[in-house]
Amino acid sequence: MLLDNPSPRTTYMREWRARNPEHNATYQRDWKRARRELVINHYGGKCVCCGETTYEFLAINHKNGGGTQHRAEVGRGNGMIDFIIDNNFPDDFDIQCHNCNQAIGFYGSCPHQKREE
Ligand SMILES: [Zn+2]
Ligand SMILES: [Zn+2]
Repeated sequence: MLLDNPSPRTTYMREWRARNPEHNATYQRDWKRARRELVINHYGGKCVCCGETTYEFLAINHKNGGGTQHRAEVGRGNGMIDFIIDNNFPDDFDIQCHNCNQAIGFYGSCPHQKREE
């Protein structure tokens, strides 16, 4: 008998979600995306290396390095977005796509740059 009944917490969460449809995951995701887009567009909206403009491929990059330490300070995910907006878009950032960002991180430069030399 006991197993047929959901726990009080499960029931509570289900009712809470039903009463608060605006607090669903889609709403949270759209809001975060809008703030991230604001930041990416401010810094040019495309990869500084290859010109990639697909939003999903783009990453916010620390121009002067130190990104790993800074990310640890502000927190993962939206921490960096909050920092940039709260600090009125500092000059220390630009936009790279994940490909170029990874290549520069692993090899010190991006193959796109070598090709042009
Ligand atoms: Zn790129
Ligand atoms: Zn590149």
